[in-house]
Amino acid sequence: MGNTYIALASAFRLLGADFVVPPYSTKRTLNLGSKHSPEVVCLPYKLVLGNYLEAIEAGADAVLMIDSPGTCRLGQYSDMARNAIRDMGYDTKFINLDLYKGKVFELYNGFREATGNNNPVDIIRAIELVLVKIDLLDELDNVYSYYRAREQKKGSAKRIQTKALKLLDEAMTPGESRKALKKSVELFLGLAINEHKPVLNVDLTGEIYVVIDQFSNMDVENELGRLGVQVHRKINLSNWTNAFLKPVLFKLEETHGEKVKKLARDFIKRDVGGDALESIGDAVNAGNNKTDGVIHLLPFTCMPEIISQNIMHNVTKANNIPVLSLVMDEFTGKAGFVTRLEAFVDLIERRRELLLNNC
Ligand code: SF4
Repeated sequence: MGNTYIALASAFRLLGADFVVPPYSTKRTLNLGSKHSPEVVCLPYKLVLGNYLEAIEAGADAVLMIDSPGTCRLGQYSDMARNAIRDMGYDTKFINLDLYKGKVFELYNGFREATGNNNPVDIIRAIELVLVKIDLLDELDNVYSYYRAREQKKGSAKRIQTKALKLLDEAMTPGESRKALKKSVELFLGLAINEHKPVLNVDLTGEIYVVIDQFSNMDVENELGRLGVQVHRKINLSNWTNAFLKPVLFKLEETHGEKVKKLARDFIKRDVGGDALESIGDAVNAGNNKTDGVIHLLPFTCMPEIISQNIMHNVTKANNIPVLSLVMDEFTGKAGFVTRLEAFVDLIERRRELLLNNC
């Protein structure tokens, strides 16, 4: 899922594990996952299954899976993937992180079982490193988004981002990780940009997997950046880790989930699973903040987001905010996808000019 592997790989390295990072998702990964999945299952499942199969091909003899509570199909995916892989004849060990039982405790046990390291100090340090890196990866993406929208030379911000991700990947302690981020910000500060360029601001929300993962969302953030848009990604992995994995003592501020739940209240009364509530709350928030527009991403057949997609029309009307919902699946073509983004950006640009002229 996007760059999440950077945080997890460093924890496994710290614990002295022999592990495989599967190749980054490609069309082959998706074909492999789709071939062994029910047709109507959602895109993230197909990709995760494809990732597992490519990891097994690369030598992994155990896989870590998450069983998560909630009202969507995620809770079934661990069993489904386990059965699919067994039916294919692989003798792969399954280590289940059953978040129904408890979050940090399960993470602790999963790391111990997967790495064979029973030292509690090492495991706690590894969990801390994962949490710190997830926060820093999201911070880095925010910085990148600012510079990408204003770069003078196309592609120059991306080159720095690639270096920055490598620095974060190599850091082995929270301190080194923070230094890596600082160094990366310095590199961005040296980039030639058009500081006063009037960029458009677009909030990105939707189902967490497709929002975070560049392959499944057709690299939407870079495509928008190319069009001179600063993207504000509202659904981040750090929202989730901060809400569910960090001890209550460290939660000094209202979490993203708590905030958007209140904002969504006029449009939806209860949680329908996945990130549907967050998507609606994020769109309301964008309207309140007079953001130029919202891109709402959802995987084909994602039950919670189908509900939020239908509610988005009401949010658009009530809060005067343009929302483009884009359904992602294995048949989504890049050219058509980019055309829709370009049309949306044209629309919100004209809308902003009209609003400025009327002021
Ligand atoms: S939120 Fe949607 S896409 Fe994600 S696991 Fe649940 S049903 Fe699938």
